Amino acid sequence: MAKKKDTLIEEAEKIKADLTKLKKKKQVLDSTSTKKTESKPVKKSVKKTTKKTESKPVKKVVEKPVKVKKLTKKELEEAKREAEKTLEEELEEQLSDEEIENFQIEKVDMERLTNKVCDILAERESDGMFQGELWKKLKLTNQIGSRLALKLERMGTITREKLLENNRWTYKLILKKTPISTQSIENAPCLVCPVEQKCSLDGEISPRSCQMIEDWVIAELKKPVKSK
Ligand code: SF4
Repeated sequence: MAKKKDTLIEEAEKIKADLTKLKKKKQVLDSTSTKKTESKPVKKSVKKTTKKTESKPVKKVVEKPVKVKKLTKKELEEAKREAEKTLEEELEEQLSDEEIENFQIEKVDMERLTNKVCDILAERESDGMFQGELWKKLKLTNQIGSRLALKLERMGTITREKLLENNRWTYKLILKKTPISTQSIENAPCLVCPVEQKCSLDGEISPRSCQMIEDWVIAELKKPVKSK
């Protein structure tokens, strides 16, 4: 009887030990399952947030295709004309005929300046000269030179030829006719001579025997060339 009691006690202790083992295993299993369930959502949330932040700029970068308007032949010609427009053409649009023809440079003898232009251009004959070169020689700005060129063209003194030089549109100036200068006879005695009506080459009063004209010619010849 006592032996049977002992075996029962032994079995009960074994069962008790198995139960504690099972409890420990359960605890371990529980802890691993909670870890897994906690970590997964975190990963997902990170992925989601990065996806969101990356996707926004992509939307902005997408550009709408630019619609290029096709120009008509007339519009193309107009655009070409605008691109090739010179300072002179702009001035012609802005100024009246009167403003072009009556152009004066302050403190400058326009007749003398015109003669100087003619002298320089006459040396080049029909080849003419690029206006930039001429303005440089005369120490004139492009703006003033361009207005002078327009004036001289209106006077019939020069012709202007539009040319492309160093990828820039400009003009070649060619002398058309030399203007008649009154400067050489400004002080001639004949202009104020009281007997001019009676004066003739074969007459009694004649330049051949006129002392006034002789004195004037000698005085003119003595003058320095520049001041003439
Ligand atoms: S040449 Fe002598 S006289 Fe004759 S118009 Fe002239 S200044 Fe008079």
